[in-house]
Amino acid sequence: LIELRDVNKHYGTLHVLQDINLTVGRGEVVVIIGPSGSGKSTLCRTINRLETIESGTITLDGHPLPAEGKELAGLRAEVGMVFQSFNLFAHKTVLANVSLAQMKVRKRKREEADKRSRELLDRVGLAGQADKFPAQLSGGQQQRVAIARALAMNPKALLFDEPTSALDPEMINEVLEVMQQLARDGMTMVVVTHEMGFARSAANRVVFMADGRIIEDRAPEAFFTAPESDRARDFLSKIL
Ligand code: ATP
Ligand code: MG
Repeated sequence: LIELRDVNKHYGTLHVLQDINLTVGRGEVVVIIGPSGSGKSTLCRTINRLETIESGTITLDGHPLPAEGKELAGLRAEVGMVFQSFNLFAHKTVLANVSLAQMKVRKRKREEADKRSRELLDRVGLAGQADKFPAQLSGGQQQRVAIARALAMNPKALLFDEPTSALDPEMINEVLEVMQQLARDGMTMVVVTHEMGFARSAANRVVFMADGRIIEDRAPEAFFTAPESDRARDFLSKIL
């Protein structure tokens, strides 16, 4: 579904993505892990065209990513992104947050958008919170609103960049459970996370990055029990 071929990117002299090759099949869950600064967020952002690349190709469903304009908004609907810092509109209700892009980008009427929003809020365990404002919710609830908002666009895939890193420990599981359920429902997902329990139970593959390169790309069980590279062994010894 998503395919990166020989993707390269620099920030000035920093070669932040080096010859990245990555394929994410339909319904696959790929977890990306690696040390801070290894390029995980940058990789996610290139898939959503929040960053440009200098060489290589990225295709979605066999089509090159659009560079600008209307098609770009379309891409962001097809490939939703969930960030560490929820990014909800503070002055809009939960319902309006989930409905807004549906009306703007998907051109749904308010009634239809709100109906879909309520279904999705229900699905992420937030029935009854629709008329609140983001500040009235916990971090875990806000992140689940952000997930509902991404789902509302009927995306082909979802990208998650450390979705639980900003959350208090007791709220992490409620977000991971929603993501587990999405995985079981067959959603294609690329997830940057340090939650190794999630990687082990939900991922089809673990991609280990260091210094802008993909060092390993393997099944979770194989990766966690017998990492091939010194870099990965070293990383795992620090976090497990
Ligand atoms: P973390 O685990 O801390 O989130 P990461 O693996 O997501 O790290 P990136 O955010 O992708 O890493 O950053 C990779 C490298 O690129 C880092 O060295 C970072 O300082 C640098 N970088 C990121 N964004 C920019 C930017 N806009 N301009 C210049 N350098 C940047
Ligand atoms: Mg990051």
